[in-house]
Amino acid sequence: MTILVTGGAGYIGSHTVLYLQEQGEKVVVLDSLQKGHKQAVVDVPFYQGELHDNAVLDRIFVDNKIDAVIHFAADSLVGESVKDPLKYYDNNVIGTHHLVKKMIEYDVKTIVFSSTAATYGEPDSIPIQESDTTVPTNPYGETKLAIEKLLKWSDQAYGLKSVCLRYFNAAGADPEGRIGEDHTPETHLIPIVLQVALGQRDNVKMFGDDYPTEDGTCVRDYIHVMDLAQAHYLAVKKLKSTKQSAIYNLGNGQGFSVKQVIDTCRNVTEHDIPAEVAPRRAGDPAILIASSEKAKTELEWTPQYPELEAIISHAWDWHHNNPNGFEE
Ligand code: UDP
Repeated sequence: MTILVTGGAGYIGSHTVLYLQEQGEKVVVLDSLQKGHKQAVVDVPFYQGELHDNAVLDRIFVDNKIDAVIHFAADSLVGESVKDPLKYYDNNVIGTHHLVKKMIEYDVKTIVFSSTAATYGEPDSIPIQESDTTVPTNPYGETKLAIEKLLKWSDQAYGLKSVCLRYFNAAGADPEGRIGEDHTPETHLIPIVLQVALGQRDNVKMFGDDYPTEDGTCVRDYIHVMDLAQAHYLAVKKLKSTKQSAIYNLGNGQGFSVKQVIDTCRNVTEHDIPAEVAPRRAGDPAILIASSEKAKTELEWTPQYPELEAIISHAWDWHHNNPNGFEE
């Protein structure tokens, strides 16, 4: 197969590209490089451009016989989405609209879409099931949900088959240390804690310690980025064989608090890692844990690195060996 990966130079995108290459698949990457890193992908036809750029999409579909698309390209910062929702509607929803139109024009009818647990908003109950209500609490989640619906109606109208993967907290890095997570600015807990271990920050701020959880800090479901990559590949293959659109959660089904994450980082890195309590961050639910039974049963997805220790130690290998990320 030849698979187009949009946003293939980003964090989850680049790990998925690597995974697909290891499976012997041909990969083509489209990335604007606004957030992505060219160094994160090697040995692939690379197209730099925006989803809105019809000329670059035409070139991709004319130059390559694309069998399926894995669509990551998006803005994904919750806080920024609240401050500038139109940017998110433009890049995420309108961008996907351009992509889907071109897919239909070139008769490419298989897409795996990078969705998010943020589509649920405040959970009805834990663990979260795919059938639970979706009431996003920020524009980021709202735009991802809008895209899920765009894909649903495009199946009915044009026969476009889609799998939407709602991830929980992506974390970790390539176990062989070739690529890892490099965001500017960094907002995610694990890389921030590891930056403290590296001496790049004085301490980590724990956003709230008065949540209704065992130790008062928020609980999240951390899932290894390579396990996410595996699920994308399985989803493409499943779509090709069954032609049935579907939505799946991807998580480990196990929650860890902010304090537990920091403690595990202390063990893995053997650094003190000072932490202090700070005010709650707006829009953070107390507990988000996925039920991923549907993905395990229907996609035959088996996470390879479910332990938090493994997730953090792969992230640490990357950050320790690449303290400035992809920069030389
Ligand atoms: N968090 C924190 N301090 C930080 C960054 C994150 O306490 O500097 C908390 C955040 O409030 C959430 C959890 O860590 O409860 C995971 O946050 P992250 O931004 O990594 O992922 P999210 O759950 O927002 O997708």
